[in-house]
Amino acid sequence: MDRRPRIVVVGSSFAGFTAALKLAESLRTGGQGPEAQITVISNTEVFTFMPSLIWLPFRVRTREQVTFPLRLPLERHGVALLIDTAERIDRGTREVVTSDRRIPYDYLVIGTGPKVHFDAVDGLGPDRNGKKGYTHSICNLDHAEDTRKAWDDFLRDPGPVVIGAVQGASCFGAAYEFVLNLAYQVKKHGLKDRVPITYITAEPYLGHFGIGNFGSARKLTELFFEKMGVAWRINQVVDHVEQGNVVLADGERLPFKFAMLIPPFRGVDAITRSPGLGNAAGFIEVEDTYRHRQDERVYAAGVAVAVPPPGKTPVPCGVPKTGYLTEEMAKVAAHNIVADIRGEDHVKLPFASIDAKCILDAGNTGVIMTADHILEPRSHAWLIPGPEAHWAKLAFEKYFMATHKRGYV
Ligand SMILES: Cc1cc2nc3c(=O)[nH]c(=O)nc-3n(C[C@H](O)[C@H](O)[C@H](O)COP(=O)(O)OP(=O)(O)OC[C@H]3O[C@@H](n4cnc5c(N)ncnc54)[C@H](O)[C@@H]3O)c2cc1C
Repeated sequence: MDRRPRIVVVGSSFAGFTAALKLAESLRTGGQGPEAQITVISNTEVFTFMPSLIWLPFRVRTREQVTFPLRLPLERHGVALLIDTAERIDRGTREVVTSDRRIPYDYLVIGTGPKVHFDAVDGLGPDRNGKKGYTHSICNLDHAEDTRKAWDDFLRDPGPVVIGAVQGASCFGAAYEFVLNLAYQVKKHGLKDRVPITYITAEPYLGHFGIGNFGSARKLTELFFEKMGVAWRINQVVDHVEQGNVVLADGERLPFKFAMLIPPFRGVDAITRSPGLGNAAGFIEVEDTYRHRQDERVYAAGVAVAVPPPGKTPVPCGVPKTGYLTEEMAKVAAHNIVADIRGEDHVKLPFASIDAKCILDAGNTGVIMTADHILEPRSHAWLIPGPEAHWAKLAFEKYFMATHKRGYV
């Protein structure tokens, strides 16, 4: 009988994939496979490089270019992959429950990302799965592909565009990159005079991103928007969306032919269905070690983790948990599970003190952003605008795909 500790990882994206492979690397024993049984439960067979979803609608990228199959890189590093959906976690028996099986664990890593909460605003989101919606989305691969079809139609019959992030949203970077890429495409297609573009956001100023002051981000984003002809509205609350109009809380109607609005995120159903696992929004409260506050056998990383906003804003804004931050959290969680197994000390990495590394793409230019801490206080926050940012994002995507599809994180 296999007596090795059982580590189960739910989700296999930036959080789960990184945690599983870091665990395998740290627990490797010469030729015998890891000194723990590591199983990933994923409801999808592919890894999606989300940062490139901003390009799918404009045919800069295809589904095939931004995905790779999960099984090979995991299995070659001794990690088992189970394609299934975790319905809930039974913390009493320490089992992950799916529709037809129970998978026991000694240690659990939750990397389930967000549930995109289109229900937060009437009419928000794509017209999908029986829910009436009028705005497009790039929050996952299927959405981004649908948005490509809508964009093709739009090019044949252009008009006003509204892009943005509604109250409670956190993934502001995607909205910025999308609006700037869209403005670039509009110019490329010679449609600038026929396509007024408006960016609406819950942020208190441009370049806030849900994290507050970040070097010269405000000045730079305003300059970019002015240069690319994008009008902006801050502190906005969307009341509802109807066919052809975004209706703001004060009753004003912003007409559109094409709209993409980032919704708020919540924790996934598997968390909300598991009593005591997550908070009211379905996110998991963790220590600085990424261990659950009340359950020493449960760890979490990435979007699944609860992170309170650094300050109050007139309209609620969430904190972005980017791919880089997610990977850093996942590595710390993996390190600390290994420490638990070996009776060693934990390491801590408070979310606010993780360093920031980000590229904001704007079609053929952009901004490289880096800081010693994602949240204030910081000793530096540097922003480097220019075409090299666009090339850096393209190069990083290639590097990421090449390494990760071989199982190196
Ligand atoms: C359009 C867009 C652009 C972005 N651009 C950038 C960028 O440029 N740079 C950056 O750093 N970050 C970017 N991000 C953010 C980045 O994508 C996230 O930080 C990252 O995906 C978070 O990883 P995660 O593993 O926590 O969640 P996810 O990537 O959402 O992964 C969660 C995984 O868990 C699976 N899952 C969920 N529930 C279950 C279940 N019950 N059972 C089994 N499996 C389950 C999901 O299918 C998914 O594969 C962007 C995000 C978007 C949407």
